Amino acid sequence: MNYTVYIPQDIEEEGKNYLLERGYKIKLGSGLAEEVLMEEINDCDAVLTRSNAMINRKVIQAGKKLKIIAKYGVGLDNIDIEEATQQGIYVTNTPQANANAVAEHVLALMFCLSKNLLLVDRELRTGNFAIRNQLYSMNLGGKTLGIIGLGRIGRLLADKARQGLGMKVVGYDPYVDATSNLSLEIVTDVEWLFKNADVISLHLPLTETTKGIIGKREFLWMKSSAYLINASRGGVVKEDDLIQVLREGRIAGAGIDVFEMEPPDKRNPLFELDNVIVTPHNAALTKEASICMAMDAAIQIDQVLSG
Ligand code: NAD
Repeated sequence: MNYTVYIPQDIEEEGKNYLLERGYKIKLGSGLAEEVLMEEINDCDAVLTRSNAMINRKVIQAGKKLKIIAKYGVGLDNIDIEEATQQGIYVTNTPQANANAVAEHVLALMFCLSKNLLLVDRELRTGNFAIRNQLYSMNLGGKTLGIIGLGRIGRLLADKARQGLGMKVVGYDPYVDATSNLSLEIVTDVEWLFKNADVISLHLPLTETTKGIIGKREFLWMKSSAYLINASRGGVVKEDDLIQVLREGRIAGAGIDVFEMEPPDKRNPLFELDNVIVTPHNAALTKEASICMAMDAAIQIDQVLSG
């Protein structure tokens, strides 16, 4: 066997060792610019890609020997699936590997926001112990969590919030039947969800139809005491609209792991707002989930290339 696997952005040793032990050669990438990807993919049989390498039409066409594009992660929005399909190239992802990590990250953002953790930490370090009497935090127990997108992550989050925190959970997903046997209430009226939830968490994919689907209209439906969490894809939210409602205090705050443009500009106005907590698209990147993503992607490559 003389197959080469191209890895534009490095992954955990476990995934690379799995491939090396089975006789594959590995080519680690030297950059993510289109020209670099096109040149480096040229003689490779597989590409194992993370989110930041754009495996677009030109890159796929440059991969003359390409047989599989294995995504380390879930969202396939950085891969031109249509082109891959036309060329008969397999596209895989690792849906089971990181759902728990993302659901836990969302809970962390929810706790951070509802307990004002960033603000009180900062104030206390400047000697302001009196901050304890200057603002209330919020109980999550008994509150309503609204989840948009009831796939793997949305459902896992629903279970954790309901069972672990005693939250009431309502979900919206046009592709999930309201009679589905899920342990949460499914609503078909998304406006109702936005108007009634205390925390809203987004778990839908970025596609042509979901791009910018959440904007000013939805934010203005929200209670002024409610929080928005986005650990799905930045592009599903109109970021300018979100910044505006946060600036004007129309909603209580937001926990944001993903951005319209990544990496975000360091002058992104979200970074100046006190009612926002931001994380660098690392919701899925626990050590455990990262090893699982690397292994699952490597196994999928082996399965395709070894027939
Ligand atoms: P999934 O495919 O299991 O679930 C997505 C759900 O969204 C599906 O049930 C689908 O029916 C639903 N959906 C599609 N369009 C919708 C719409 N317009 N309104 C409401 N629901 C809609 O995916 P998942 O594993 O649960 O992951 C969800 C998304 O989270 C992924 O697409 C990915 O982009 C993102 N993600 C982010 C990270 C991170 O690090 N922040 C990690 C993993 C996944």
